[in-house]
Amino acid sequence: MDRDENQKKPVILIIEDESGIADTIAYSLSTEGFEARWVATGREGLEAAGSPVDLVILDIGLPDVSGFELLKELRRISPVPVLVLTARSEEIDRILGLELGADDYVVKPFSPRELASRVRAILRRTAPAPVEPCPSGTFTVDRNRRRIHYCGTPLSLSRYEYDILALFISRPGWVFSREKIMEIVWTEPEESLERTVDAHIKSLRNKMRAVRPDVDPIVTHRGVGYALREDL
Ligand code: CA
Repeated sequence: MDRDENQKKPVILIIEDESGIADTIAYSLSTEGFEARWVATGREGLEAAGSPVDLVILDIGLPDVSGFELLKELRRISPVPVLVLTARSEEIDRILGLELGADDYVVKPFSPRELASRVRAILRRTAPAPVEPCPSGTFTVDRNRRRIHYCGTPLSLSRYEYDILALFISRPGWVFSREKIMEIVWTEPEESLERTVDAHIKSLRNKMRAVRPDVDPIVTHRGVGYALREDL
């Protein structure tokens, strides 16, 4: 595959209890330039989906939990695209339906090459549009003056907005829960913490959108928290 050596391989999480199938998928994906991670149970799958993955391949027939429930739960905690493996074509409507909303499905038995090409198609479809780089650098933080320049433009930030954005900039890509943000940024605890953090994030987004309307540098990880985009 024609790929820049320094570019990070997309991480594909395989949740599949049959090791034979999982091995075949993992092998095929790795030869196609993906990094495959495999777990055999739904419980482990949910855990693994908590760290950044680019796509989940989910077998709907799992021994420990219903694949349908797991898909719902995945949807709740993460916007990650999901490709479902099913042995029964009558399940397809439900898998793709509004309630569960998988991005695609493959009926067993399938060809690993076909699966890999579906994975690539989903990633292409769901990839964020490439961003024009800022000539002066995306963020410049002046800690002494508590000032942040975004794409060369100074942002007018409140105390908490400054601290939140500086925290994100210090660890691009790291997902911070609302609780963690509260703990690091706020000196005295406040009530209704989740909404307080959300309100500040919303305001930060607006201020950055005013500088660069086509880009949202903050990613929401549903049910988990927020992170700064790494590719800016
Ligand atoms: Ca199975």
